[in-house]
Amino acid sequence: MNLFRTLIQTMSGAAIDVLADFDKQLALDAGMDPNRVREWEGLHAVYFGKTSSRQKQRIAREKAQRKGFSLDQLVLIERRIKKVASNRTRTKLRLMLLDATGNYKALARLARKIVPGTEKPPRKQVTFTRSKAGCRTMTVTASDRDMSDLEHALMTGVDTTKPVAPQMLENFLRLMRGYHAEGSPPEESAHGVPYAVPRPLLLIPLPDWVKIHQGTGDETILQLTDGTSITGAEFLNQHYATAENHLEAATFHPEEGAVNLYRGRRLANEKQRVLARATSPVCPVPDCRHSADACEIHHITAWKHGGETNIANLAPLCRYHNRVNDDDPGRSKRGRIVNVAGTPTWRSPRGRIVPNTHGAMHMLFA
Ligand SMILES: [Zn+2]
Repeated sequence: MNLFRTLIQTMSGAAIDVLADFDKQLALDAGMDPNRVREWEGLHAVYFGKTSSRQKQRIAREKAQRKGFSLDQLVLIERRIKKVASNRTRTKLRLMLLDATGNYKALARLARKIVPGTEKPPRKQVTFTRSKAGCRTMTVTASDRDMSDLEHALMTGVDTTKPVAPQMLENFLRLMRGYHAEGSPPEESAHGVPYAVPRPLLLIPLPDWVKIHQGTGDETILQLTDGTSITGAEFLNQHYATAENHLEAATFHPEEGAVNLYRGRRLANEKQRVLARATSPVCPVPDCRHSADACEIHHITAWKHGGETNIANLAPLCRYHNRVNDDDPGRSKRGRIVNVAGTPTWRSPRGRIVPNTHGAMHMLFA
């Protein structure tokens, strides 16, 4: 006796007889996959359960038996017709599919042909994966016409005796940056996607014995423990005099977060933007890697709820996460940004805090 042959025969030629004896608990107790047991339970209902047409049910049973449909094929039929709303149409389609000949794939092909709405229309979109080993993957779905043009452009000048895909990537990156296809890029083009320019910013940790007086205009008054007070600029001159001339410098307090930015004359809101970016160089929502330069400045407490435009209340958020942030305190659907010890931090709808480990506060005080 060949056990495997017996198993296969039981699951194909004898499928209808097997279903007649279907016993859910027996299958579950034997360790069968509950999803599969559920599918078999569905088949049992179709071929042996209550029905408005006992005659059609009998015909279906006979067809399945005569042709020796396997359990998998019977499951496939139900899976494909289940979206059809009308019971009568489902019964009709089932009987048509039970006329199919050939293996599993042949049946799937027939189902695609005769069951309406089986093929999902592709969605035109661009998606990005998260970073893995310093690389990310972009998937683009667009019209045949646009994609053919792109494919043609990327194939231009490709050496087909070598692997094609990496050369297409090179061409794609040139295209993206706005360079001509041949030769190395001489310098940045005005037409392509610009390189993100890193702007050096000196991050200066304030000692935690310094107390900060807020609300003194453009300058920050630091209250020292000996009772005296100095301005932030004086503090920098004393401790970081040489650096201040050429670099932008930002002061951070271990509990309060970003305090002030020093560099010539700057509009207050521009200053706040720079500080917000330094505090959170990427969108703080977990696994979102939009750099702060591409972000909008978000009010942690919404403007309409009295949130002010000061650094403690600002966070760079990408356009998407700015839209879906739960701005209203009563709403908890998509999570929201909160200020945790001076750092914009994402809190899940259930209140879980996901630390922001990218910004100045983490670099200086972690
Ligand atoms: Zn984001």
